[in-house]
Amino acid sequence: MPRQLIAGNWKMNGLTVPGARLAGAIREAVAAAPPPCDLLICPPFTLVGTLAHVMLGSGVAVGAQDCHAKPAGAHTGDVSAPMLKDAGATAVILGHSERRTEPGEREAAVRATAGAGRAAGLGRIVWVGETLAEREAGRQEAVVAAQLAGSVPEGFPGSGVVAYEPVWAIGTGRTPTEADIAAMHAMIRRVLGERFGATGGRVPILYGGSVKPSNAETILALPEVGGALVGGASLVAEDFLAIAAAAA
Ligand code: PEP
Repeated sequence: MPRQLIAGNWKMNGLTVPGARLAGAIREAVAAAPPPCDLLICPPFTLVGTLAHVMLGSGVAVGAQDCHAKPAGAHTGDVSAPMLKDAGATAVILGHSERRTEPGEREAAVRATAGAGRAAGLGRIVWVGETLAEREAGRQEAVVAAQLAGSVPEGFPGSGVVAYEPVWAIGTGRTPTEADIAAMHAMIRRVLGERFGATGGRVPILYGGSVKPSNAETILALPEVGGALVGGASLVAEDFLAIAAAAA
């Protein structure tokens, strides 16, 4: 069994001094008591280089929250996958719901960024998840299957990760039932297996959406849950570390 991955998504939070302090606290705690899982921290672009430096040699990886599909060029305001790699990132989150709703990224764009991440040698965490309206209409599996088909590129297994996060669970304190999480993860596993064969069976599938110390152990013990993508709780060192300690 591969180790579970606990990934922190700092979103648009973190200035240099408090961000480095938070990363330093995580570094110290991990050195004192190594967690039974892999750890990844995804700060805003501005902190990727700083945190990569703080985490050097700690075993804690640093990633980013998006990248452009092209390696370089006239794309004002964007950051490319090779730039992230150059800054010390080893992975990137792609197509998060907040990027799908705010700048309006669609499946093809997410797929292109996932291809760019691969070309640059970055691990890619591709986000999928349904809205509350889609779940209430019983369409959650169809929605997530379509997202997987549209946004996961060829050659994904190996260093690709899927993160399932119901949109209605993100930052709300609400989580699906254990049965609902297990059913969705089983469906994602089936879809990946049908498309990629045996290698699809090894793609880690993270759960995300209001993961916190009080529910981490239960969620991380569910079948096909390969770790967690953690938002709000990743901004508090003790909470992030408690979630990591709960890894199966
Ligand atoms: C997220 O948005 O990736 C996330 C998991 O957020 P939270 O843990 O705050 O629900």
